[in-house]
Amino acid sequence: MTSQKNIDLLLSESERLKTFESWPNEVNGKCTPEKLAQAGFYFLPCEDSPDNVCCIFCTKELDGWEPDDDPLEEHKKHSKTCPYLAMPQPFSMAKLTIKEFMEFMKNVTSQTVENQLKKKEREYQDYAASIEKALKEHVLG
Ligand SMILES: [Zn+2]
Repeated sequence: MTSQKNIDLLLSESERLKTFESWPNEVNGKCTPEKLAQAGFYFLPCEDSPDNVCCIFCTKELDGWEPDDDPLEEHKKHSKTCPYLAMPQPFSMAKLTIKEFMEFMKNVTSQTVENQLKKKEREYQDYAASIEKALKEHVLG
């Protein structure tokens, strides 16, 4: 979250839209790159999820998009605490006062840190469970 690219994605919907250049899905429904970028997402494909997107404001990742999915509605459904969604939509960073901007960025930062901690916690729990399993097998086997 500290690279210049991430800052650009955070501040600019058109920068987020640029990431969708190789978007693999059909774009004749509601689920278009424009709507995805507007909903806070940038394109983050991975091997198992060719249409994976990530919200730059809350780090929520979503994939398996259907042509009729509404990106903003899906975002709301899966990320209740996203600070971007708490702002009036359609959102315009340029219309914020300095004070509103600072408050917004504070919320984005704390939400991002919280979500990354939760993710790490899950990873460590999985790791601990695999160690426990290996130990049991070692002792019992
Ligand atoms: Zn979000």
